[in-house]
Amino acid sequence: MSVKTLLPGALSDRGQQMTLGVMGGGQLGRMFVQAAQAMGYFTAVLDPDPASPAGLVAHWHIQTAYDDEQGLAQLMQRCDAITTEFENVPAPALVTLGAHRPVAPSAACVAVAQDRIQEKAHFVQCAPVSGVHPAPCAAIETPELLAAVPADLLPGILKTARLGYDGKGQIRVRDRAELTEAWDKLGRVPCVLEKLMPLQGECSVLVARGADGQVVAFPVQKNTHRDGILAITEVHEAAVPADLAQRAQASTVAIANHLNYVGVLCVEYFIVDNGQGGSDLIVNEMAPRPHNSGHYTQNACDLSQFEAQVRALAGLPLPSPRQHSPAIMVNLLGDLWFQPNGVRTQASEQPVPPPWAQVLALPGTHLHLYGKLSARPGRKMGHLNITGASVAQVRETASQVLVLLGLPPL
Ligand code: ATP
Ligand code: MG
Repeated sequence: MSVKTLLPGALSDRGQQMTLGVMGGGQLGRMFVQAAQAMGYFTAVLDPDPASPAGLVAHWHIQTAYDDEQGLAQLMQRCDAITTEFENVPAPALVTLGAHRPVAPSAACVAVAQDRIQEKAHFVQCAPVSGVHPAPCAAIETPELLAAVPADLLPGILKTARLGYDGKGQIRVRDRAELTEAWDKLGRVPCVLEKLMPLQGECSVLVARGADGQVVAFPVQKNTHRDGILAITEVHEAAVPADLAQRAQASTVAIANHLNYVGVLCVEYFIVDNGQGGSDLIVNEMAPRPHNSGHYTQNACDLSQFEAQVRALAGLPLPSPRQHSPAIMVNLLGDLWFQPNGVRTQASEQPVPPPWAQVLALPGTHLHLYGKLSARPGRKMGHLNITGASVAQVRETASQVLVLLGLPPL
């Protein structure tokens, strides 16, 4: 990719307004589009869904399949550079786009993140420099590989190599019989068996890297999942021990450098018991894009992860981000629309919006809804960022928010 700068508000080589494009119209695409528009760019989204959250707010919404040649041609005509908001965009489509326009991250980087087997191999290659290893694991692609799985990987988690998200496409297994059954259940597709690790916690790190190799890291996010979906992210000095946070940042920078990555990259880590009364880090997986755990940057940092994605794509400078407030992010799943006042109703009943007015009466609450037209249990509808003057204040506000929403305490 050239290091040419695409200045916002300028006329491009195409003789048109400078336009940034995104493959995928979900909430991450929407917030990218909004950040780009705030800086004066025109925007285009390719997503087949007429009601996609990003399609609804972009200047142009190309409604075709991700591998539709005409759709891709239109996107290239409209755009001066293109990014992606989800890792399962077909890699060949990014290759096509990349032949004619700057595309960041590159098809090659996205392809690594799309496939757990390649992703683990990349983490293993990086380990001498990153200092962090993935969990012990084995690829299972044939009955022979299944039979050859070392006993010390059990109990473990069998994960499909491709297309898993929010805990989907994975099954916990205790022994070989359960492993065989699980592989059958997953359709005998290529999988990775990972040893079940003694998690003390989970964290993630965002970095943004420019085409010139300049890379900046954001503060480390402590994540709490519920039912396999991210529920809460906390980012403040009490969230992750400083030594682990520094190691996680250095590891993420090394992983991005090793891929010659351009754009925003998020890497997830497990914090595990090191067997000596302390903690260690294990690298879990990466997302070649902004990440749900990075939404706190919108209100708590002087550079949001979406503006960083815009800057990296457009070849603009990437100053080191500074967090100016402790932050807690609460994910708003569709379930909240079926429990007004914290009392759960039947999913068949009419959805009722949560008590936003009461939530927004609390200082330092920032509501982000994604414009999805219907609420469903488990569907990511939005998130709430909470900021404040101190960790204690942010935690206190978050506790009040969780009570209002009928969610479990911190
Ligand atoms: P997402 O894309 O939403 O982050 P995913 O479906 O790709 O999730 P993972 O991140 O690999 O899947 O796993 C989901 C969760 O399951 C992790 O956040 C962690 O809580 C748990 N988990 C995964 N692998 C292990 C492991 N080896 N040991 C213990 N817990 C694990
Ligand atoms: Mg994950």
